[in-house]
Amino acid sequence: MADRDFPLEGKRVFVAGHRGMVGSAVNRVLRQRGCEVLTAPRPGVDLRRQEEVERWMRSEQPDAVFLAAARVGGIKANSTRPAEFIYDNLAIQSAVIESARRAGVGKLLFLGSSCIYPKMASQPIVEGALLTGPLEPTNEWYAVAKIAGIKLCQAYRRQYGCNYISLMPTNLYGPGDNFNLQSAHVIPALMHKMHRAKVSGSPEVVVWGSGTPRREFLHVDDLADAAVYLMEVYSGEEQINVGTGRDITIADLALTIREVTGFHGRLAYDRSKPDGTPRKCLDVTRLARLGWRAKTDLRRGLADTYRWFAGAEDASTDRAVSLRGNDRTLSRHRPSESSGH
Ligand code: GDP
Repeated sequence: MADRDFPLEGKRVFVAGHRGMVGSAVNRVLRQRGCEVLTAPRPGVDLRRQEEVERWMRSEQPDAVFLAAARVGGIKANSTRPAEFIYDNLAIQSAVIESARRAGVGKLLFLGSSCIYPKMASQPIVEGALLTGPLEPTNEWYAVAKIAGIKLCQAYRRQYGCNYISLMPTNLYGPGDNFNLQSAHVIPALMHKMHRAKVSGSPEVVVWGSGTPRREFLHVDDLADAAVYLMEVYSGEEQINVGTGRDITIADLALTIREVTGFHGRLAYDRSKPDGTPRKCLDVTRLARLGWRAKTDLRRGLADTYRWFAGAEDASTDRAVSLRGNDRTLSRHRPSESSGH
């Protein structure tokens, strides 16, 4: 374990994006650590508005900030709502980072995403691959904003001496994820579709693309644990990759989700839907050298996520909401207050 040069116990810590999957997981870990967790009230503080964020931060005076607020979504949402993905993310991170500087916050951790790396980066992707080639076009809006966030932290470090660090999580999943089929990432989307097919007795579930792309997946509780750990031990300029270092094909993922959900029907591949980047797996050597590794096995993490999802489904079915054909968002957060890839 590396030296804890910024111990968090007893500190006032602002979690931006506390309703999101990542923010709520970070919040849980911080509370266990004995931190006083601060969250920006909504309505009242729109994280995209510099003045509102700055006024609130000056009055609350946090010691540290976890910047987990972002407009996030899967491949479809990214390509159909590019303006929201680039504007909201640029606005949120600029407002929070500049406000943190003005309020004299001691340390800030910015959460990015593995999609900042070039589409054709050699795999597994090392931190140094940043800005060495063209991005995956289906999510470049989001990626460009996240790259700007890393650069903001680096520039503030160089010019103002601010101790702001960046983490690049791989694809995340877990309780609290967005299960809305229009905007979900692959794990919640397939889980939702298979659950629905199981409940309705439908014989087939459609999986987008060819099934051949490879992705790495990290449970959000692992990410939260890594974020809190790195806040305490890491103070460098370069972003740090956070992942498991292992990837699987979408086809194998679909089979595992099929087992976990208990859906017994067919999987049909819709090749008219985009595959996105062919492979995305992070090199986590730097993270391992800093003394951290992921703990949650994918299958166990998927089972835990499915329990959460099915519980939320049962609760809403009890409220007499019809399941069939009803694309509800089961996440408890707004899209502008979560984090992902
Ligand atoms: P990405 O990692 O940025 O490409 O985002 P996604 O999680 O949305 O997609 C990952 C891969 O899963 C892509 O190859 C998708 O085509 C594939 N995929 C298969 N079925 C689905 C689905 O139902 N929803 C989503 N979002 N992706 C799917």
